[in-house]
Amino acid sequence: MNEKANVSKELNAKHRKILEGLLKLPENKECADCKAKGPRWASVNLGIFICMQCSGIHRSLGVHISKVRSATLDTWLPEQVAFIQSMGNEKANSYWEAELPPNYDRVGIENFIRAKYEEKRWVPKDGIPKSPPRGQDERASVVEQRHVEKGGHGYANGPENSFEERKKVRASRIKESRRVVMSVPGPPKGPEEVF
Ligand SMILES: [Zn+2]
Repeated sequence: MNEKANVSKELNAKHRKILEGLLKLPENKECADCKAKGPRWASVNLGIFICMQCSGIHRSLGVHISKVRSATLDTWLPEQVAFIQSMGNEKANSYWEAELPPNYDRVGIENFIRAKYEEKRWVPKDGIPKSPPRGQDERASVVEQRHVEKGGHGYANGPENSFEERKKVRASRIKESRRVVMSVPGPPKGPEEVF
């Protein structure tokens, strides 16, 4: 609401036009996460356009990871508009999905989104390693999220806490899990653990 006060009607109208224009760009015509056509929502801090379903999942990640706004109904700050203008789905995914296998099956979009933005599973590897080898990670996250989904919302535990816990568990079980992961129908393992 504070944010709203700073944006005049005129500016708001201008923003709306810019956003409409961005939504017409080929790279923004599909949800950045599930590829559904015609996204009308956005994550202002990630600079991406997403569909309504994925916007709900983004909200559950918490605003420290993703701040959701309607691209057509909400008031945006000038810097948010400028940022999504400079980012957009294609550029964002060239980072967030840099290491994503091309034929990756996005079964269970919530798991996918959490792996993508919360665990940063597919960001470029040249950067700082974000966490220990991931073998156990995938198994653990799939199981955990099933529990969470049953609870009806995505943040029962706080993503960071559960991630920390997962890391501990993982560390002790990485070796056998590497073999197990191969036969699990969850997300394929990232290339990170290969070496
Ligand atoms: Zn989507």
